[in-house]
Amino acid sequence: MFNALVLEQEEGKTLSAVKTLELSDLPDEDVLVEVSYSSLNYKDGLAVTGTGKIVHKFPMVPGIDLAGVVKESRSPDYQPGDQVIMTGWSVGERYWGGYSQFARMKPEWLVKMPAGMDAAKAMSIGTAGLTAMLCVMALEDGGITPDRGTVVVTGAAGGVGSVAVAILSRLGYTVAAVTGRESTHDYLRDLGANEILTRAEMAEAARPLEKQRWAGGIDTVGDTMLARVLAETDYRGTVAACGLAGGYKLPTTVMPFILRNVRLQGVDSVMCPVDIRTAAWNRLLTDLPDNALGEIANVIGLSDLPQAAADIVAGKIQGRTLVDPNK
Ligand code: NAP
Repeated sequence: MFNALVLEQEEGKTLSAVKTLELSDLPDEDVLVEVSYSSLNYKDGLAVTGTGKIVHKFPMVPGIDLAGVVKESRSPDYQPGDQVIMTGWSVGERYWGGYSQFARMKPEWLVKMPAGMDAAKAMSIGTAGLTAMLCVMALEDGGITPDRGTVVVTGAAGGVGSVAVAILSRLGYTVAAVTGRESTHDYLRDLGANEILTRAEMAEAARPLEKQRWAGGIDTVGDTMLARVLAETDYRGTVAACGLAGGYKLPTTVMPFILRNVRLQGVDSVMCPVDIRTAAWNRLLTDLPDNALGEIANVIGLSDLPQAAADIVAGKIQGRTLVDPNK
């Protein structure tokens, strides 16, 4: 017997409760993982609170990422004792996920833990950190090196944003962090932000082209903020867009693209191919300072999740939250 957070639906409302399950209750997938840690992402917040259509079927064990140890395997690629990481693939949305002491996973969803990383570090990074790394790699792919100028990060005090600030700073970039919360300014400076901008000024509707300010950008917010970042991006700059915390619309024009050669690069971590995923996990080992993670992560148990999920949806969470299903 083991514990898991289970979501059920009653009269259109999503209800969450910690339940005791048997291994035979788990879906029939090839690899049984004993979960050491999961984490809390914005999408988990939407799933647990029932905001937005994240969960495709009920009952559902949410948790879009997990790290743990293989207990049983019908796959030749994994043996009992292997340490593994899983993020994405619609786990926690279509398939039972990481808010559980045990989970059964398809082998192709798993990545082997890089040597030198452990489950706690992997989940302090989690989907959010992996996405931040993929965004930094997208800027590099666009030729954005530290000597090109300042990189702006929106939603900077959130999970993706805070890891992006820490990685960029470690790699020698000058970082401008956009946040709506004054209480996070010291935290962002500690992570390496050189400049802090308010959400209000960056969310203001922009003209098609504004004064050039940014060599590159990492945007987790979308809508008018992404439109402003694009309008302020330097000639031949690159903007990596991965989120919609402020909205899914993009009220922009073609001007930044056709007159300034700006590249808008979408970033998705969910279906990201395994070779790029593995490269990103290995980069995280070297490019994300340990002390940044220490400052980023809080640890909660399964019973704390309903409140923490409401908090992340309300934009009240700072940095990354680890979920210890054994707590
Ligand atoms: P998070 O921890 O909640 O961070 C989002 C941050 O955005 C907040 O901390 C806040 O930062 C800012 N924000 C919130 N509401 C806002 C609003 N109305 N207007 C402007 N800014 C607002 O979430 P996360 O886990 O970092 O995820 C960030 C976004 O990336 C989400 O939209 C998520 O769905 C997306 N995401 C995408 C992928 C992918 O594969 N493409 C993967 C992971 C996440 P401040 O307090 O600093 O203002």
